[in-house]
Amino acid sequence: MAWQASELEQFPAPTWDEIAPQASAPIRSALERVLEKQEGARLTEEERYGLANCNGADLFALLVAADTLRRDLVGNIVSYVVNRNINFTNICFVGCKFCAFSRGPREADSYFHSLEDMGRKAKEAWEVGATEVCIQGGLPHGLPPFYYRDILRAVKNAVPAMHIHAFSPMEIVYGVELTGMTLGDYLTMLRDNGLDTLPGTAAEILDDEVRHVLSRNKLSSAQWQEVIRTAHACGIPSTSTLMYGHRETPDHWVRQLSLFRQIQTETGGFTEFVPLGFVHQNTLLFQQGLARTGPTLAEHLKIHALARILLAGSIHNIQVSWVKLNRKLSQLCLQAGANDYGGTLMEENISREAGATAGEYTSPEDFQALILEIGRIPAERNTKYSRMKIKLPQVEGRASSPVQAHVGAGALTCPAGRSSADAGGHNSSGAVIERAQIAEFA
Ligand code: SF4
Repeated sequence: MAWQASELEQFPAPTWDEIAPQASAPIRSALERVLEKQEGARLTEEERYGLANCNGADLFALLVAADTLRRDLVGNIVSYVVNRNINFTNICFVGCKFCAFSRGPREADSYFHSLEDMGRKAKEAWEVGATEVCIQGGLPHGLPPFYYRDILRAVKNAVPAMHIHAFSPMEIVYGVELTGMTLGDYLTMLRDNGLDTLPGTAAEILDDEVRHVLSRNKLSSAQWQEVIRTAHACGIPSTSTLMYGHRETPDHWVRQLSLFRQIQTETGGFTEFVPLGFVHQNTLLFQQGLARTGPTLAEHLKIHALARILLAGSIHNIQVSWVKLNRKLSQLCLQAGANDYGGTLMEENISREAGATAGEYTSPEDFQALILEIGRIPAERNTKYSRMKIKLPQVEGRASSPVQAHVGAGALTCPAGRSSADAGGHNSSGAVIERAQIAEFA
């Protein structure tokens, strides 16, 4: 049976017990085992592919199971980080066909921010409450060999306490090429100059046949894995990502999520998984007929749910990329297994250039409202998810007693103020909780 988009928008009205009898026997059995053991590794290979390719009532069951598992594993908090996105240049020679952001050096709207600009932007962000800068850019020919290191120095000189989440594995490979250093030495140098975490971007689909169509010049799947494993070994955690909705199939999703599980078992270095929907409008990939028109609603929901199920027991945080989704869709994905809203960003260029319309900035207050609308608890986190600060409007100024917060149709009890330790950030409002306490909010 094919389900209509309007029906998908209604979930997760049913509970698992209500929806389970409607699912086929193999899908029901697979999901029940994961729900019981809270461990995606219990699935057979056949079951993983079966879940990725399911439709109709089985898809509905997958979404409800993922939401149930999310609640069991990470509770009702939806976290976000206050950050500023800085794309320091849009000049790039790589030529990815899915990218509408890059420019040639002589194009009228190409730009390159100076090191002084980077320091100033970081300072501005800190002054309005950001705890992280996320820095990525194009790859211009002739970049000074140690430029990535110099960006780190400029930011840390301006704001020593700012967390720097920077440089895609593609930029790391370029930096290695420019300096002639080994990968391990290069990453160690960046870490010692202030690189705190690495975005696991440039992964797209880690299958060289697909990658060759998306971008002939991009790093290979093996290179991406080598950068990530080496970064983790150097003590630099990273995110993990997957771009969906172009020319890949659900089988690619399964293989990539399984690979991330394997890397996580080896290194423990992934902080989160972020599915990135392909924004097709202004891209060569779409215009040349090499990709479909971005993900369907069912695909958006399925990838978030599948990630929650397959990564259970391995990667705990599933993030929605709000810049690639609209307001309603990002809320729906948070009800299909996701638990994190990502960053406020302040200036977001890459998705906007490709045709996304979700905007450049979501304020912390907007995040809080969106999270409260779906009956969950907003919390500002740090980049590594080791500290969270509950951000219920009712909590402000009342951090020493339990608070009953009425959220949507239901009511959530938030034992705010059980820890008064400062988060180490500079915005002291709200109640702070440590990682070990987060499960108590389930
Ligand atoms: S995705 Fe990155 S590497 Fe590829 S063309 Fe765009 S800016 Fe360059």
